[in-house]
Amino acid sequence: MSVSRNPLVDLDSAEFLDNFQRNIDEFDSARLPQEPLSRESLRKLVELGIYLPAIPREYGGRESHREMCEVIEIMSERNLPLGMYTMIVTVLFLRNVAASGDDALKEEVFDDFVNNPVIGGLAFTEPSSGSNLARMQTTYHDDGDTYRITGTKHWQAFSEQADWWIICAKHPERKEFAYFAHKRSDGGFATTEVYDSLGLKNLGYGLNTLDLRVPRHYRLTKNREHLGDAAEILCASRFSKAAMASGFLRRLNTEAVRQVSTRKIGDGTLHDIDYVRYKVNRIKQNYVVCNALYRQLMLAENYYTDLENSMFASLATKVLASELMLESAIDYQQLCGGEGYRMGAPDNIAAYALLDARVYTVFDGTNDLLCQHLANLFLRQFQQSGLRSPLEFIGRFAYLEDAFLHLTDINLSHIVDAPSQDKIVILGRILSRIYGISTLQKSSRSATPSTRLAVDDADYPKAIAVLKNEIVSLVNECELAGRLAGTQAASDAIRPHAAMITADSKVGMH
Ligand SMILES: Cc1cc2nc3c(=O)[nH]c(=O)nc-3n(C[C@H](O)[C@H](O)[C@H](O)COP(=O)(O)OP(=O)(O)OC[C@H]3O[C@@H](n4cnc5c(N)ncnc54)[C@H](O)[C@@H]3O)c2cc1C
Repeated sequence: MSVSRNPLVDLDSAEFLDNFQRNIDEFDSARLPQEPLSRESLRKLVELGIYLPAIPREYGGRESHREMCEVIEIMSERNLPLGMYTMIVTVLFLRNVAASGDDALKEEVFDDFVNNPVIGGLAFTEPSSGSNLARMQTTYHDDGDTYRITGTKHWQAFSEQADWWIICAKHPERKEFAYFAHKRSDGGFATTEVYDSLGLKNLGYGLNTLDLRVPRHYRLTKNREHLGDAAEILCASRFSKAAMASGFLRRLNTEAVRQVSTRKIGDGTLHDIDYVRYKVNRIKQNYVVCNALYRQLMLAENYYTDLENSMFASLATKVLASELMLESAIDYQQLCGGEGYRMGAPDNIAAYALLDARVYTVFDGTNDLLCQHLANLFLRQFQQSGLRSPLEFIGRFAYLEDAFLHLTDINLSHIVDAPSQDKIVILGRILSRIYGISTLQKSSRSATPSTRLAVDDADYPKAIAVLKNEIVSLVNECELAGRLAGTQAASDAIRPHAAMITADSKVGMH
């Protein structure tokens, strides 16, 4: 192992992060070309220590969960695609090598990532299986000293660029899933088509054909049944959406305030218009929510431990953070008017912000599917509790309990009672908002981790009001889904319906 000691390893955390933040202006999304990041640029980021928090100390890194989160958060404020870039290499690639790699693999990988501008990616999705990974066609076979892996993967970030991969493949007879590191220079991983993505263009995508052999010690030690390890791996990346959303929305809030304060309308500016201020406020409150989700990730979770037991929180975080990012990107673009529809506009970043944020509700498990998982986790535990009122269960469910007092005037019983699949998905979306309220309550009681992340105490009740309003809309949407599916009595459909509820209606204490 050739670990030459990097002086960045000896800085204290505040110095390390300050140094990183002070030196990334050139990577700003307003300036960086919309194309895969050059190696020369990556080298600058590696020299600033972008990978070090995800590398264990014994291999020359800083080994810090909190710094892994902070680097992604800071990067996402500058440039959301590069926040995603950082997350994939650190949280998806390096974290799994650290957690489950053989010692010889760790030495080889960490030596490379400490010293060189190299990239690691994750290859799960296939043209015929995205949401349903169990239908994966890529297989592995024992082949003497090696494993042979064959199949097709697509939509991998860094398809053409990655130097290292973690590949998921299925044993054709035993139906077991296994995870392998692969070094691209060993051959057999070929990008046969480059995809032209709408956004996140600093990462490249494509269709990849695999016919490769990996040494036996490149297999990761992952022993859960079926796709349990894939779920744990994805927990970590789903949590990371809190870091990306927090950085991204802080930036959008700053940009939106600047835009409306400088854009002249008549004798004043856009900021003089009540509705414009309301929309800017919505962006700010979405930031406050994601700031709370982020603090929860940074302070209560740990990327250096197994995250299986944090499944509920990671699903809720991903769904809520990504939906608030998208909503705010649309609001910000609207506030920028026609110039917001212009690529490379001189005074705003709205076009790229929207195209970059758009895919967050789709990848990493599409939100609709994740909402279904979230609701099923909740329903299973609710049924096991023997309680009859979902609200009472929420009051005892650690992830949601702090939201209890805000929900006493909303009736969830009819949604939880034998819901159809569409209502289960909507229930998952409701649960993500309840998780958000609970997290805001926690955050409002705790000290600010740093001045960068400080929010005004007066914003917590406002952010909670935003989420509560969404819960009420989603409860109404459940009703609508039933009507569209024709499950209501025919006479119901032609009569005006009185059951729609509003934020302050008192529909049943339960
Ligand atoms: C920019 C980008 C980057 C990506 N990066 C990677 C990567 O690095 N590595 C990798 O392996 N993969 C990556 N992916 C793939 C990504 O994870 C998949 O696209 C995603 O999981 C969805 O799978 P799918 O595309 O097959 O959609 P499908 O499974 O076909 O789903 C399509 C739609 O059907 C609906 N749907 C599906 N299931 C349900 C349900 N249960 N309830 C309700 N509605 C449902 C949803 O609306 C969903 O969006 C990336 C994709 C994109 C676009």
